[in-house]
Amino acid sequence: MNTNTGDQEWRLKAACRDLPLALFFPAKGQQTESAKAKAVCRRCLVRTECLDMALSDMSNRGIWGGTSFVDRIKIRRDGKVVAIVSETDTK
Ligand code: SF4
Repeated sequence: MNTNTGDQEWRLKAACRDLPLALFFPAKGQQTESAKAKAVCRRCLVRTECLDMALSDMSNRGIWGGTSFVDRIKIRRDGKVVAIVSETDTK
């Protein structure tokens, strides 16, 4: 999905690598698209790395590591990564 380079070799294993970028950046209120992106993330081998990156750089919008931007705000605010990610998994 993201074409940034650097020392993030985990991106080469991303399940979203060959998928349309737009899927991971749904417009506000597009719950179906958001759910589809999160479903891809659930089977991604590098979900943890992706989520760590997104939490460390809150300038990233869209779906990363199976979370939306709002999910990540809650994670950072509440420090409940496991709870939020688990909740996301069930949707
Ligand atoms: S967790 Fe989701 S957004 Fe992150 S690399 Fe995997 S498929 Fe892409």
